[in-house]
Amino acid sequence: RFGRVALVGRPNVGKSTLLNAILGTKLSIVTPKPQTTRHRILGVETRDDAQIVFIDTPGLHQGGKRALNRQLNRVARQVPEEADLLVHVIDGVRWREEDEAVWQLVSKQPAPCLLVVNKVDKLADKKALLPFAAEVTRERGYAAVHFLAARRGDGVPALLDEIVALL
Ligand code: GDP
Ligand code: MG
Repeated sequence: RFGRVALVGRPNVGKSTLLNAILGTKLSIVTPKPQTTRHRILGVETRDDAQIVFIDTPGLHQGGKRALNRQLNRVARQVPEEADLLVHVIDGVRWREEDEAVWQLVSKQPAPCLLVVNKVDKLADKKALLPFAAEVTRERGYAAVHFLAARRGDGVPALLDEIVALL
């Protein structure tokens, strides 16, 4: 199997961390400050059963008044159209306005989209996870929901298996 997978989501949710966890390298730039990733970064994961090209994005920024934001938005908007599969990363079980904006964009794409709820290690109450997953899948057309702690690598192998299965 071969496919292009785009990681999308608002800044600071852990897209670059996830890409690094998948690839096992420090290829992408990870930082607590948003807007560090200014270009699309490609990483290739080769397994016995698949070759996957990953596209990391700078994220979508609200506003867009400043030139940098406009540039970031332009890059981010190009990505889904050239991907075979989208992975929408969010931070915890809070669905923000910016997450909705990303969903509005990805839901217009023909490619299927997985939802990744990242940073579950920060959640004190894990009981919120399943109702949240049920709600987002009922209200929006994600192919599946995965819970991850990308910084620790938790949930990454299962996500990778699902990505390969969907390509
Ligand atoms: P991006 O802007 O979406 O690419 O986000 P980054 O990958 O640069 O990560 C933003 C911040 O979130 C960094 O400080 C990461 O260390 C942190 N982060 C990423 N994944 C996790 C996680 O699973 N758990 C926690 N607690 N922090 C994370
Ligand atoms: Mg990044």
